[in-house]
Amino acid sequence: MTIKEAQELIEAWVGKHPSRYRSELTNMAVLTEEVGELARVIARRHGDPSQNQEALKADMANELGDVLWVLLHLASQSGIDLTEALIENLEKKNMLDTAARMEAEHPKGKQKK
Ligand SMILES: [Mg+2]
Repeated sequence: MTIKEAQELIEAWVGKHPSRYRSELTNMAVLTEEVGELARVIARRHGDPSQNQEALKADMANELGDVLWVLLHLASQSGIDLTEALIENLEKKNMLDTAARMEAEHPKGKQKK
């Protein structure tokens, strides 16, 4: 499934379940809540080795799914194509990486005059 297909799938689901519709502002709060739930699971998974690691891995997958669902829906209802956003983000990171590499290879403070 592509990101676009996932966005379309979620919008179709929300269209069939209008009672589950939430505003962008509410979804932003829900996204924050879901990220907090993910953080709690990660803290338990990495902070206490006596915990059932397989169960925590399943919990983590569940919370990542919650985060992804809300993120995809928030993007769609805001008119944002997350595929394009991800591609632009990768291009930005590549440019920053190239600039950092060039700076490391040719520091501005050490250029010959
Ligand atoms: Mg959750």
